[in-house]
Formats: sequence, structure tokens, C-alpha cells
Amino acid sequence: MNVILFGPPAAGKGTQAKRLVETRGMIQLSTGDMLREAIASGSELGRECQAIMSRGDLVPDAVVIALIEAQLKAAEDAGGAIFDGFPRTLAQAESLDAMLAKLGKQIDHVIRLKVDDEALLSRVASRFADQGRPDDNPDSFKVRLDAYNRNTAPLLPYYADKGLLTEVDGMSSIEAVSGAIDTALAKDRLTIA
Ligand code: ADP
Repeated sequence: MNVILFGPPAAGKGTQAKRLVETRGMIQLSTGDMLREAIASGSELGRECQAIMSRGDLVPDAVVIALIEAQLKAAEDAGGAIFDGFPRTLAQAESLDAMLAKLGKQIDHVIRLKVDDEALLSRVASRFADQGRPDDNPDSFKVRLDAYNRNTAPLLPYYADKGLLTEVDGMSSIEAVSGAIDTALAKDRLTIA
């Protein structure tokens, strides 16, 4: 099963993805984590992306598509993936569909976590205080939220039109969000031939 966790920065995608890994043995493909690993390793890719990420801007489509492509076959062999933070643009969504189609697979569910901006701001302020992630500073976070609204939110109709989208209230407790995701994933999707 292939699932996209969709939502603005700090909506709780990473938390829920990790829970699905623990409870279902699914594989998490987080482009944000992959990019942070590239930065930590000091690779050329990491050096190229570091400034873009700490500003809060999106890295180029080709970079993240290549990162996902490198892991997709292994994820499919393991039974599917939870995509966390990918796709973030229409070009990424179309590439993902094409890459999966080559493997005879598709996206089965898109879960949108809905959280209002005020709650996102307060979550990210406490994460910044706890973890000091450079792109959680208030200026970068505003850029990230703008990038989400401009580039990523417009993907919602793309997946709604395919009948794949379920909206979940991301303002409730972690457990309640997990329960709503489990309910959504239990629903069968009709395949339109
Ligand atoms: P969050 O979901 O909390 O915003 P992520 O860890 O997913 O954070 O991503 C952090 C940063 O990594 C983004 O702001 C962006 O610079 C870069 N990034 C991650 N995934 C993508 C993507 N699919 N396309 C472009 N940039 C990305």
C-alpha cells in the first residue's frame, strides 16, 4: 500500500508516519529527513541544499525526485511506502505517479492533516525552542508556509479528482489523529478501469 501524508509544515506528518512504520511495518520516505541526512553527511548535495532549506524554500524538483527514485524499488519490494513531505509540487506528483506506474504500482490513499495556521505557529515555536531546527525560526517558517500554500496545497484537487483524498482533523490529539488515519486506510478504494 502506498500512502501520502499531506499537510502544511509541522502538521504532524512525521509523527504519524513513524507510528505507521511501528504499527504496520511500512517504510517511511521523508524527503526532509533525506535532505537533512545529506546535510549532516557533508555531501555536495547537502551543501547545495543547506541554504535553500534554512531559508524555508523548496529544493529543486529534480533533487527530491532523484532521492525518492533511489529508494522506491526497495520500498515497493517491502510492500509500499508512506510518503512524508513528498510530493510538494505538481511536477513531483506527476513524477511519482510515473515512477510507481513503471513498477506496476500506484498511490492508494492521500491523507490530509488539517491544522490551522495559529496552531502551526505555536507548534513550530516550541519545536524551535526544543530542537533548534534552523528552518523552524519564525522567518523561515513563514516562507515554508507560503511555499505550502502556493505550491503544495494546489495538489489537493489533483488527488481529490482521483478519489484518493481523506481529510483528517490534525488539531485533535496524536491518538485521535492516528485512529482517524487507521479508519481511512481501512477503506477500500474503487479502482476505476
Ligand atoms: P516540514 O514538513 O516540517 O516542512 P520537511 O522536513 O518535510 O519539513 O522539509 C524541510 C525542508 O526540506 C523544506 O522546507 C524544503 O526546503 C526541503 N524539502 C523537503 N521535501 C521537499 C520536497 N518534496 N520538495 C522540495 N523541497 C523539499
